[in-house]
Amino acid sequence: MSARACILPVFVPHLGCPHACVFCNQRRISGALAPATAEDVKNSIAEAAAFLPKGGKRQLAFYGGSFTAIPAEEQEALLSAAKEALDRGEIDAIRLSTRPDAIDAVVLDRLRTYGVETVELGAQSMDDRVLRLSERGHTAADVEKAAELVKSAGFRLILQMMTGLPGATDETDTETARRLIALGPDSVRIYPTVIVRDTALYDMWQAGSYREHTVEDAVRVCAKIVPLFEAAGIPVIRLGLNPTEELSGGAAAGGAYHPALGELVKSRILLEKAHAMLAGTAPGSRVVIEVGRGRTSQMAGQHRENLRRLQEAFSLKGIRICERPEANEEITRISIEN
Ligand code: SF4
Repeated sequence: MSARACILPVFVPHLGCPHACVFCNQRRISGALAPATAEDVKNSIAEAAAFLPKGGKRQLAFYGGSFTAIPAEEQEALLSAAKEALDRGEIDAIRLSTRPDAIDAVVLDRLRTYGVETVELGAQSMDDRVLRLSERGHTAADVEKAAELVKSAGFRLILQMMTGLPGATDETDTETARRLIALGPDSVRIYPTVIVRDTALYDMWQAGSYREHTVEDAVRVCAKIVPLFEAAGIPVIRLGLNPTEELSGGAAAGGAYHPALGELVKSRILLEKAHAMLAGTAPGSRVVIEVGRGRTSQMAGQHRENLRRLQEAFSLKGIRICERPEANEEITRISIEN
């Protein structure tokens, strides 16, 4: 998706979700939510038409996690409203997200009929023990099967994974990333686990049976995982839950909730790259790190923490950043000043 793409969101509350993933509060709050209707789809498109910039790609997105697990008639009502808008040129694409075990040939035929372009699968982990402890209700093999079906049916595929779920370690999360890469998605989203109030995970945390996946834990493991996706040419289009008033206002009771998690991870990746490039630098040196356009704050880190860490690790006399506006690379060069 280009930077000018606009998302028209339609929320599909999971009244029919037959699962109870430990981190999800949909089931507990769903009683208060009405199912989305064709009217909601039309309203979302009409509202968006009033403020969306001209020329960008307009993508209608059914949010909520398990679109194809809702009854077929409800899916068809929503999809046909979306398809009418697609045919009239009011939107350019339709996207939805769902569970891996809610995908089969019949489901995909229906999505194709209504012009869906992108299917997003919540894989979350490729470790069956982690999936079981998280009560996901599907296996890693289900993810592989669904991903292959989606791709071979010609849809764009987005895969979602989580870090820090019950039973997960940096190794299982990294292995999940490797196995998702092998499935060849067009892009991925990474959601480090947040402990949301009114979830089973919150109760497990309170009871001491789940160890919180802190912001630092998430930054550490994501700084390993993101470069794997990048090296495979797979864009990470989201890192961390979108900040909302509700989450920031207390619903996020613990875990890896940070409004700028993606920036923290990029900053850690640059710290590790600089660390590797500085290997062998003589103590007492004055170092200049040259970075590409707009990379200065990522390189410096929050409160210049990266620079402080590098200075300490290599006993440097001085360290500074020089931004090269003409360069796109993260770190273009590291040099020693006299
Ligand atoms: S499948 Fe999705 S909506 Fe249903 S409980 Fe799990 S995360 Fe929540």
